[in-house]
Amino acid sequence: MEKTLSIIKPDGVQKGVIGEVIKRFENAGIKIVAMKMIHLTKEKAKNFYAVHKDKPFFDSLTTFMSSGPVVAMVLAGENVIEKNRELMGATNPADAAPGTIRKDFASDVEKNIVHGSDSPQTAATEIAFFFNELEICE
Ligand code: UDP
Ligand code: MG
Repeated sequence: MEKTLSIIKPDGVQKGVIGEVIKRFENAGIKIVAMKMIHLTKEKAKNFYAVHKDKPFFDSLTTFMSSGPVVAMVLAGENVIEKNRELMGATNPADAAPGTIRKDFASDVEKNIVHGSDSPQTAATEIAFFFNELEICE
């Protein structure tokens, strides 16, 4: 069973769409095997998004990601990395397909409601960032 990390970002928690996002995963047959709410520090947000450290949006993104609590989840299922990315939609909600999470709930390219790992390697690293083995219910 493949696993991926999903995060409902501070805007998703603030807008009250935690349940809506989770419902989409469950309706798609994806299993949630770990979940926690956590308020990242700016430092932790910078570590999590280190791959983007040289991008012009890095400071704003990490300020946003540490602006309020997030819900981190481990999703499991066949092909779940790609399936989750499809449910999320394009990074910029303006480009996201109808019926995707970002199209339906996101306000702009930064505050785009959800994060999802983009490869098996990043999934492994990102899951370990939030969860230890005992916290994942296989
Ligand atoms: N982001 C941004 N401005 C941009 C591109 C990305 O603020 O021009 C933010 C946005 O929150 C995005 C995150 O940085 O989700 C990570 O960017 P990435 O390209 O990895 O997009 P994702 O994998 O989340 O679709
Ligand atoms: Mg990404």
